[in-house]
Amino acid sequence: MSSTMPHHWVGQHLRGQELPRAVRGEGVYVIDDQGKRYLDGSGGPALFCLGHGNREVIDAIKRQYDQIEFAYSTVFTSDVIDELSGMLVRLAGGQLQHVVYATSGSEAADTAMKVALQYQLAQGFCGRTHFIARRQSWHGYTFGALSLSGHVARRKPYAGSLLPVTHVSPANVYRPPVGFTGGDLGQFLANEFEAEILKIGPERVAAFFMEPVVGAAGGAVPPPPGYVQRMRDVCSRYGVLLVADEVMCGVGRCGHWRAMAAEGVEPDIMYTAKGLAGGYAPIAAVLLASSVYEAIAARFDRFASAHTYSGHTASCAAALAVQKIIERENLVQRCATQGEYIASRLKEVFGEHPHVGDIRGRGLFLAFEIVQDKTSKQPFAPELKLAEKFKATAFKNGLICYPSPGTADGVNGDHVLISPPYTISGEETDLMIEILRQTFQEVMQSV
Ligand code: PLP
Repeated sequence: MSSTMPHHWVGQHLRGQELPRAVRGEGVYVIDDQGKRYLDGSGGPALFCLGHGNREVIDAIKRQYDQIEFAYSTVFTSDVIDELSGMLVRLAGGQLQHVVYATSGSEAADTAMKVALQYQLAQGFCGRTHFIARRQSWHGYTFGALSLSGHVARRKPYAGSLLPVTHVSPANVYRPPVGFTGGDLGQFLANEFEAEILKIGPERVAAFFMEPVVGAAGGAVPPPPGYVQRMRDVCSRYGVLLVADEVMCGVGRCGHWRAMAAEGVEPDIMYTAKGLAGGYAPIAAVLLASSVYEAIAARFDRFASAHTYSGHTASCAAALAVQKIIERENLVQRCATQGEYIASRLKEVFGEHPHVGDIRGRGLFLAFEIVQDKTSKQPFAPELKLAEKFKATAFKNGLICYPSPGTADGVNGDHVLISPPYTISGEETDLMIEILRQTFQEVMQSV
């Protein structure tokens, strides 16, 4: 098929963007019909953890299709769903011993909201229906997930139709909230969170949602020291469930299989999606602490949510194959070591750059923030559309990365997210850094 063939599907861009036609994937590369190779420096949206064209995963999916495509999960179990579930609870560890499946990160967020509501109802708290999340966060595009999301631009078209979720301050050492004058930022934010719960009334609050390391909405923002434990303590004090959104940062990308494990904290509910099957099939998993599961099971005979494709068998086969490879090849550890190498190269190339304000992240989940003025941290004007320009220029130069606007306050600020496949080699890393350097130079010249 020719690259000029018209297409009739609606993507994100309604006008003005012609997409190249992808025809093959090979490791960290996507290849288009003109033979151009794109180094996937962000693994798509932090999705392709094993890169492209992994034969072992593809063969596992094919074998499953040869047996049965989908053992519809409200009436059957199957070997792969049982084995995957056992593996996930072992990898998550601790109290996270039960799994509910979904097919996307957004659907998982909605499912986690419903688990929290059903748990509170099971405890006799029918008034606990309110959710708290954070500004500069992203939980997805379904109505529940979008209501949780503190993403100004993506919420805008739906203003007035979303659930009344309360958004507290993001936890960003580089950009602390107004009013913080120094000291323990984690404590400051936990105090703000507690004050918010008291204002709403603890008897009305069901759960608090947070990304352990913020993805696209903030640019690989790790929490301040002690913050997550303090938020955990506040949640426990008021009977509010702590929910970890590990859709992007989970499944090893940050150097721990569970990103929140780095803080030594266990949530009541966590969910993950992207790296679970690494883009080979749509699947998400919501993990529940035994206390949550048992409270619901003691009161109700069924979990009040199900989707037709939940726990799709071929998707479970894909996730199982991906997770087995990650474990066998020690790739979680590799995320930590290769992430250190990339972070050091980013600091070497961009650390002294007058327009790079911050370089941050964990493992293979890294970002640099672009600023107009390094001292004042003043971002460039949003009208310059820097993130968009960076993305297009990098793409022209053969690199896929994930720049986003709105980094500082939802409107202003730009960052570039780097989240390559866990398997990226040293040589590929050096090429990626070189294209980033060249791209940044071109973008800065253009403004
Ligand atoms: N949560 C986080 C942290 C995400 O980054 C995303 C997607 O980018 C989602 C949830 C939503 O996932 P999906 O796009 O699969 O619905």
